[in-house]
Amino acid sequence: MSDQETKAIRLQAKRSQNREHSVPLYLTSSFMFDDAEQARAVFADEEEGSIYSRYSNPNVDELLEKVCYLEHAEDGFAFASGMGAVFASLAALLQSGDHVLACRAVFGSTHQLLTNILPKWGITHSYADANKPEEWESLITPATKLILIETPSNPGLELIDLEWLCALKQKYNLILVVDNCFATPVLQTPIDYGADLVVHSATKYFDGQGRVLGGMAVGSKELIAPIRYFARHTGPALSAFNAWILSKSLETLTLRVEKHCENALQLAQALEGNATLEAVRYPFLPSFPQYALAKKQMRLGGGIITITVKGGYEAARQFIDHLQLVSITSNLGDTRTIATHPASTTHSKLTEAERQATGITPGLVRISVGLESINDIIQDITQALGKVQV
Ligand SMILES: *Cc1c(COP(=O)(O)O)cnc(C)c1O
Repeated sequence: MSDQETKAIRLQAKRSQNREHSVPLYLTSSFMFDDAEQARAVFADEEEGSIYSRYSNPNVDELLEKVCYLEHAEDGFAFASGMGAVFASLAALLQSGDHVLACRAVFGSTHQLLTNILPKWGITHSYADANKPEEWESLITPATKLILIETPSNPGLELIDLEWLCALKQKYNLILVVDNCFATPVLQTPIDYGADLVVHSATKYFDGQGRVLGGMAVGSKELIAPIRYFARHTGPALSAFNAWILSKSLETLTLRVEKHCENALQLAQALEGNATLEAVRYPFLPSFPQYALAKKQMRLGGGIITITVKGGYEAARQFIDHLQLVSITSNLGDTRTIATHPASTTHSKLTEAERQATGITPGLVRISVGLESINDIIQDITQALGKVQV
């Protein structure tokens, strides 16, 4: 790991004649050529060089190179948001008539993409349960081309065994796409197990400070080529400014993620057994149903815990309204601790049945544990729980 961390800190786009230590921001739409012949050569891929920032940009390239190092990937493309990365990857790799097998608990907008948007072009999907491995193989059809998963899932924190799934995808010669947003490469690198493509919402832990949106898709050169072609010509490129911010943020990714995990574990331990709570879920709590898998697959337990407040929506609402330090917002992976009520916000577009199938109960609250003093976080959450009256 230390090699990658060093690269995430030191890797840098070319310095200008000013010999700046921190990388400059290349805020330019297009790039110049010395002469007509050079322009021809760069366009023909005979000579390296940026052409136009929808295609590539030095800040974006620097960021991508770092993410490829961290995820052990050969190549990648950066997008304006995580959903840009998910959509472009699926749209580039799939044809009309293809079928996607996905884990049931996917990010809210990924669910909209699979259920309402891709079907417009004849791309269908099935959902399989993370806890029912036997279900997966039976859902693979001759039309199945790709498997899409999140582990840990949002917000249920369900895990999928990457070693097992890679064996399955190899048996049927499928493309495995892993949304590695919750774990980050600090905790797990799916490509090492055989995953073909890793997608990210850089908006979350990569930025880590709640400032910019961004997305990545990284994998083999062969798989990135059609994604790059699709993205270059449809336009979801990451802005140079956001890439500059994100590249700088990666210098502290390991440090931040380790601290998020340390705080999350301590919070989960402090809340377990709280009389106001029905359940506390955190992958590195021994009471977590997939604890053994979490220990096998993840370096640390991640920065997200979920709690289920006794008394359903009304109790969850009271708990959230009594928070003083913790922010009420829907982002995650921020230095600041955040509480989100998925059933009424991020997952409100799902039907009641869909929410039930993914464990999003009315009392469930997702906590993205930040980097504040753990004593302050525990104090705020326990005082708010103490005020719940139902
Ligand atoms: C936030 C998120 C996304 C979408 O990313 P945006 O940057 O908001 O577009 C995708 N997958 C997961 C798991 C996420 O948490």
